[in-house]
Amino acid sequence: MHGECLCGQVKFEILGRIPKLYQCHCSLCRKQGGSSSNAATIVAAENFRWLRGEEIISSWVKDSGFRSDFCSKCGSPVPNPLRNLPYVWVPAGLLDANAQLEICAHLSIASKAAWDTIASPGVKYETVPELSEFLELLHSKTHA
Ligand SMILES: [Zn+2]
Ligand SMILES: [Zn+2]
Repeated sequence: MHGECLCGQVKFEILGRIPKLYQCHCSLCRKQGGSSSNAATIVAAENFRWLRGEEIISSWVKDSGFRSDFCSKCGSPVPNPLRNLPYVWVPAGLLDANAQLEICAHLSIASKAAWDTIASPGVKYETVPELSEFLELLHSKTHA
């Protein structure tokens, strides 16, 4: 499956099955995406390829390690490596819209915006789950 930014200059490909999606409702993800939450997934680095535009990606890293990569032409959030792990964080809104994807988790419920109503199904976490448990959930084949 392919994905691209708003202006189309950054384009990437994910090989194989796309893992399930999650939404994080924390204040950082709100500001990064400009909305109530983000919607994203985490794919194995071996299944991820840049097709074009990698050289125009800008990166901002907060002292805490929170990282936001974005297209320097249009500002869309774009994929970035998950810390130093062999995984890539992928914003779901960049993917082909007709993909059969499923939201399986909501993170940082305790710090969501007061006006944020969570309508989609999925496991709800007050903060963030432990990473290996979370990766297992995203990559599980069963329905939530
Ligand atoms: Zn762009
Ligand atoms: Zn977040």
